[in-house]
Amino acid sequence: MISALRGMKDHLPPNGQTYEYIIKICEEVAKNYGYSFIMTPHLEQTALFRRSVGESSDIVGKEMYQFIDKGENDVCLRPEGTAGTVRAFIEAKLDRAGGVRRYFYHGSMFRYERPQKGRLREFHQFGCECFNEPSVYEDASVILMINEIFSRLNIKTSLKINSLGDSSCMPAYREKLLKFLSSYEALICEDCKRRKDTNPIRVLDCKEQKCQEIYKDAPLIIDNLSAECKADFDKLQEILTANGIKFEIDSRLVRGLDYYCKTAFEFISDEIGSQSAVAGGGRYDKLVEYLGGKSSYGVGFAMGVERIMEILSSRENSTDREGIYICALDKEGLDIIHQAGINLRKKHKTNISYEAKNLQKHLKNADNLNAEIFLCMGENELKEGKIWYKNLKNKVEKTINLNELEGVLGE
Ligand code: ATP
Ligand code: MG
Repeated sequence: MISALRGMKDHLPPNGQTYEYIIKICEEVAKNYGYSFIMTPHLEQTALFRRSVGESSDIVGKEMYQFIDKGENDVCLRPEGTAGTVRAFIEAKLDRAGGVRRYFYHGSMFRYERPQKGRLREFHQFGCECFNEPSVYEDASVILMINEIFSRLNIKTSLKINSLGDSSCMPAYREKLLKFLSSYEALICEDCKRRKDTNPIRVLDCKEQKCQEIYKDAPLIIDNLSAECKADFDKLQEILTANGIKFEIDSRLVRGLDYYCKTAFEFISDEIGSQSAVAGGGRYDKLVEYLGGKSSYGVGFAMGVERIMEILSSRENSTDREGIYICALDKEGLDIIHQAGINLRKKHKTNISYEAKNLQKHLKNADNLNAEIFLCMGENELKEGKIWYKNLKNKVEKTINLNELEGVLGE
């Protein structure tokens, strides 16, 4: 028996349907917010992620699903969706064309993490990216959009926001933080020592308790924002409040990737264990230029679909019966029910049983398939051109003429 790789998961029914349901709602809401569907490759040059996600991030530092392909190319399965989207945007010369562009995507992401609850090596994200829009109104829109998605899915979340400043205030803050860190050099963890040299602000995101104790006294970026960054952060809070969205300012929220500036945010659910972040995002105004394009603003988010599936599937089984199961008790009826099934498929979800079996076996099959309508041709029905009907939801039973089937089943 060959099993699936560690940290990689199959999604059989009804899980597959939960996935479809979540994506359908995400798509509906994203389209209402003016976003359009795009697809980019799952495999990219490793250099793309090294440069964009950043050397100091856990993703690049530890979690890359990287290998050398048969042509000796250093390639990597995408760990997140923004880098590929930005590359595609630049490659299509849209950075030079100007105008606001809004895209959404969904699909597999790969991170070589230690598999555990809520942490897979292949998982799925739904994400949005908006290019060329400097206004903080878009940052607010992105958060409102996620809020709308969770509200349609009936999922309660809490929201944390922060501002990471920009090139006008971040360098001075970085100096202050470095000065602070230099007096604790001997006490911080190995990862933080590495972060200190690559991207010091990332230390604030450290998961080690002993580091977090030290950073309680660290200077905070929100106390060191430029006037423009502060005005944007205030505006963001004003819009969220006006829309009834509760949030908490978490001045230690720096997110796992290096490219953010100004707005950073995370949605948390308390319905799933310790891996509780269900969506995160923010602004990345330098990323397009950093990847070789013409300087363009950017803001976006990504949502972890499996963690949302986990929340929904821990609830009362909500998958309703649907569709038709059509079958025959004797071989002589098979041609007729097969043809009737083909006709029904033009309008209805229809499972056709190709084998003659006894009634109990057919009913059990229909139940396994979660069918709503059970249609069965027995000996008498065959003689009379009829079929036996049972609604497995409300238990109504009747015998109907085969040629009246469409009418009885309706649209
Ligand atoms: P975490 O702090 O949980 O590691 P992250 O900061 O690495 O999250 P992002 O890069 O912001 O996560 O990805 C966005 C979302 O994707 C997360 O909020 C989470 O829901 C989901 N996600 C991230 N890594 C995994 C994983 N290994 N398995 C399943 N879902 C994941
Ligand atoms: Mg992570």
